[in-house]
Amino acid sequence: MCQQDGPARRTVLQGAAVASGAALVAGAGVATANAQTRAAAAEPAMYFRADWNARPPSSPVQVLAAPPTHVVVHHTATPNSTDYSEAHALALSRSIQNHHMDTQGWIDAGQQFTISRGGHLMEGRNLAVVAVREGTHCVGTHVADHNGTTVGIENEGIYMEEGPTQELTDRLIETLAWLCGAYGLDPQQAIVGHRDFNSTACPGDVLYAMLPELRDAVSGLMAAQGMESGTADVAAEDRPTYPSAPEDEPRREFFHGPGRGADDFSR
Ligand SMILES: [Zn+2]
Repeated sequence: MCQQDGPARRTVLQGAAVASGAALVAGAGVATANAQTRAAAAEPAMYFRADWNARPPSSPVQVLAAPPTHVVVHHTATPNSTDYSEAHALALSRSIQNHHMDTQGWIDAGQQFTISRGGHLMEGRNLAVVAVREGTHCVGTHVADHNGTTVGIENEGIYMEEGPTQELTDRLIETLAWLCGAYGLDPQQAIVGHRDFNSTACPGDVLYAMLPELRDAVSGLMAAQGMESGTADVAAEDRPTYPSAPEDEPRREFFHGPGRGADDFSR
């Protein structure tokens, strides 16, 4: 696969990669409708791991054949930076990975994707993009006890009192549409906040309150791109549990609630 190619090549190769992924799906005997849905999912422009000089994972990342059932919106609990540059975005990815590996002891960045306040989208955990293209699930570490069924997007900032930038919001909608299309998910059901699964304030009161309009925007974008919303029936144990929010969540950089629980087999 070409996900490690540098910025100059990635735009050119993007379309080809999506098309070959669709061909593999069709060859594996998956219904033609699914193959067409995946082929239509526009992969947003993004920075891959090589672009932000990611460290290799300390152990192999696990990839599950079954696609995820939910896409989880997080905030990064880092400052609401006004540096909207590419350099800042790539540095953010590195700092999150360093925190997750060196302080948390995880094998890699916990989240599959990161979006900066400048609207730059970055691949997070190793194999995250390959998995989306294949329709498989790269297991991350971002939602305690549900990492086997959820894909996580970390959005730069802390959104308890104010909302994200327009650039971040636009990129988030695009990314959510890509993921929902690739995995055959219904945005109305699949797009959730971290607090829907774990007791945490993440992704912040303001960003959490935006989720209904984000779901509608994603549904609209998918329809405009000719993608059909999925109708997957989610098993009861995989559905959000809506725990109550903690009274006094610690406010420290990079901490946005529990990322790993007793049920998680990966880290
Ligand atoms: Zn979170």
